[in-house]
Amino acid sequence: YQESARLLGRAKQVLASGVSSEFRKYNHPHAIFYTHGQGSRIYDVDGNEYLDFTLSQGPLIVGHSHPAVLAAIQEYSTQGQLFAGQHLKEIELAEKLHQLIPSAELMRFCLDGSEAVQTAFRVARAKTGKPKFLRFEGHYHGWLDNVAWGISAPSIDALGSREHPQAYPWSGGLSAYSREEFMILPWNDIELVRRTVAEHCGELAAIITEPVMCNNGCIVPQPGFLEGLRELCDTYGIALIFDEVITGFRLGLGGAQQYFGVTPDLSIFAKAIASGYPISAIVGKREWMEEIETARVIHAGTMNASNATVAAALATIDVLEQDPDTYARMFRLGRKLMQGLREAADKTGQSLLVQGMGPMFNTSFTPLQQIRDYRDTLSNDKAKLNAFIAGLHDRGIRVIGRGLWYISAIHTDEEIEQAVAVATEVLKSL
Ligand code: PMP
Repeated sequence: YQESARLLGRAKQVLASGVSSEFRKYNHPHAIFYTHGQGSRIYDVDGNEYLDFTLSQGPLIVGHSHPAVLAAIQEYSTQGQLFAGQHLKEIELAEKLHQLIPSAELMRFCLDGSEAVQTAFRVARAKTGKPKFLRFEGHYHGWLDNVAWGISAPSIDALGSREHPQAYPWSGGLSAYSREEFMILPWNDIELVRRTVAEHCGELAAIITEPVMCNNGCIVPQPGFLEGLRELCDTYGIALIFDEVITGFRLGLGGAQQYFGVTPDLSIFAKAIASGYPISAIVGKREWMEEIETARVIHAGTMNASNATVAAALATIDVLEQDPDTYARMFRLGRKLMQGLREAADKTGQSLLVQGMGPMFNTSFTPLQQIRDYRDTLSNDKAKLNAFIAGLHDRGIRVIGRGLWYISAIHTDEEIEQAVAVATEVLKSL
C-alpha cells in the first residue's frame, strides 16, 4: 500500500483529516486510494484488485461503469444541463417510480438521502402541525444536524429504557437540537412504541424507520412490527416514514414497502436508484406530498434532477427491470454467501454471526444467536471484526468496515464461492 500511503500524505495537506476514509473508522492500518472500478471489481493505486461487496456504500447495484448507465449519461450530458422542472426525463422518472413503488403517488427529487429525509420531516410537520419525531436506536437517517447521531436521549430514561454508551464516538457528540426534536426508542418493540405514541401523540409529526435496520447489524423487522407502526400512525394521524435509502431497489423494484407489504405515507430513495449519480427521491401519498404542491413546504435545490442524473436513474432501473430474474438471483447469491460464511465459521470455530436479507447482510462476532435490536449489536467483538475485515481486504475482498455486505445484480456464483474460500482462510487465521 505504498502509493496509497504517499497519497494520504498529500491529501492531508489539502483535505481536512486527509480523507474521510472508511478504513480510518475501523482501525484498518491503511488508507486506500483507488484508480478505477469495473463491474464487480475495484483497483487500488498500488495495483491490487478487489472483489467489491461495498458497492461504494450501496449505490453500485449494477456494478461499476455499467455500459447502459454510461451511455445514458453521455447522451444527456451533451444536451446541455437541464434541472428540476425543466425537462421531460424528470417526468419520465417520476412516472416510472409511480408505477414501481406502492406509495409513490407524488414525488420530488433531491441530491442525496439526507436532503430527502429532511424534506420528509418538513412535509410531516406541515401537515400535522406537530413538531417532534420518533426514531429508533441504531438507525441512520443521514448526516444533517437534526437527524444525525441521535442515539441517546433524555426521553429514553423517562420511558424506562436503558440509555447506553454513545455508539458513534466519532460523531463529536449530540446536538441539543436533536435531543429536543427526537424521541428515540429501541427498535422492534411494538408495545413500547404503542405506549410512547399514546402518551406523546399530541406532539408527534412522524415515526421514521429503516424498514430493515441495515446500519447496525442488518436486523429484520419482527413479524407485525412494521404493520404495528402503520396502524399506530393511522390511529393518531402521524406520518409513517420509511427510510428506504438502503432497501430501495435492493429488495425489489418497489423497495421494502413492497417486500413487506406495508405502505408508508412518505419514503426516501437514494443510493441504488441511479448507480451512485447524485439523485434521491422523496415519494409519498398525495395527501402528504400536496404540502409541497401547495408550497407550504419549501423544497428547492439548484442542481436537483439534472438530466444526466435522471438518465442514470432511468438506465439503472431499466437494467434491473430487463432481466426478470435480477432480484431472485441477488437473493439467491446473497443467501448462498451468508450460508457459506456460516459454514466457514462452524468449520473454524469462530462465533461469526451472519444476519440479514441476502441482497444485504451483516457479519459480526458475537456470542448471541440473534441480534434483535441496537443494544445487542454492542456485544459485537469490534477488534475481531476489524481483523476480519482487514484480513479480507488484504486478500482482495472489500466489505464495508462495520461488517455490511452488499450483493449486486452482476455478482456471479464463482465470485460468491471465491469470497467464501477467502473468508474461510481469514477466519482460520484469526
Ligand atoms: N438513510 C439511510 C438508511 C442511509 O443508509 C443513508 C446513507 N448511508 C442515509 C439515509 C443518508 O443518505 P446520503 O448519504 O445519500 O445523504
